[in-house]
Amino acid sequence: MRLKLLLPEVKVDEFAQPKRCPCNGCPGMVFIPRQKVSKNILDTKYQEVSAWRYECAKCGCTFRVYPEGVNKQQISKRVNGMAIMLYILGLSYGAVEIVLGSLGVSIGKTSVYRAVQSASEKVPGMKQKKLLTDYKTKAVGADVTSVRCNGKWIQIGISVDAVNGMVLSIDKLPGEDAEQLKAWLKPILDAVDADVLVTDDADGFKKVSDETGRSHQVCKSHVGRNTDELIDELSAIIAENQDHSLETIGIQAEQALADLAKLREMIHTRIPAEQSLLEAIYLRYANAPKPEKGKKHNVAYRIRNLFMDRWNLWPRLTFYRTWKDEYGNTILDGTNNHCERSIGWWIKERYRSMRGYKREQSALNVSRLIAFAGSRLSRGLNLADLMA
Ligand SMILES: [Zn+2]
Repeated sequence: MRLKLLLPEVKVDEFAQPKRCPCNGCPGMVFIPRQKVSKNILDTKYQEVSAWRYECAKCGCTFRVYPEGVNKQQISKRVNGMAIMLYILGLSYGAVEIVLGSLGVSIGKTSVYRAVQSASEKVPGMKQKKLLTDYKTKAVGADVTSVRCNGKWIQIGISVDAVNGMVLSIDKLPGEDAEQLKAWLKPILDAVDADVLVTDDADGFKKVSDETGRSHQVCKSHVGRNTDELIDELSAIIAENQDHSLETIGIQAEQALADLAKLREMIHTRIPAEQSLLEAIYLRYANAPKPEKGKKHNVAYRIRNLFMDRWNLWPRLTFYRTWKDEYGNTILDGTNNHCERSIGWWIKERYRSMRGYKREQSALNVSRLIAFAGSRLSRGLNLADLMA
């Protein structure tokens, strides 16, 4: 995980001119400075700063204007920023209190908690119901992960721009069945105007792509790994010569081993036109009988299912090879790596050092905050932007 966080500073001589009257509904635009007043603050450099008391020329109400890095709270933005930074780096709320206390800044862990949650709530977008305004992308990557919260596991869905990896939303999901995934993803696909969904090979996602009319790219790495494992397992059983199901459909062990070896090659080269070859191999095993209920699936039937599944999956697995931009370049790399990286960096990395969240909202807030910081690597995330 790489993050670039910029701490707010306190500039005692810099005051922003008031622009609006804070009194409810007052249209006043002219303000008269009345008095310089002093304010005690909790900061690493200053114990006291000056504030200005202004009067609204329209309604006569008075209000204070604070120097940069200070607001009506006692804790300076710099200290709140340090608290947020230490928390994101992996310290607990209590540990942040101890570290800052040892540096002479006594801030309670409740204040640390408030600083983290309040900054997180100001992260723009990243909610299914409130994505970044007007953000468009051709392809959305989606995945589901879980975190422990108050002793229970909660499902968290993450959606990303599958082209550049930017996180679109981090949401709590009621579950992972097809209907729940669709209820979560359809509004996101619609909002960003995406034509393509990128996911792992869970069946629920296939239904989402079919029912929302989106093309589907299933992660080639997932399928490659799963297929390799199955081929290893099936080949080993055939080599042991204990299972006689292939004989009953008239297939030699050498033929089955050769078919599996061919599949291993195809799953890694992923040539779109080879779908018909998969069909042809599937047909060799098509009449392998389904074992009786409760009986273990034999090798012939498992090979039949494996080829049928990969034959049907082929268009979703090879979609990225034929989907190109106007210059003829492929747009996707065929994996769901953007999503997996986002889960690892923005959801799981911080989570590793804790035993779980107490509140579901905190789990979402903190993940969104870290993801937002991660999307600001080039310029850095100015923590002051997330403070009132
Ligand atoms: Zn006013």
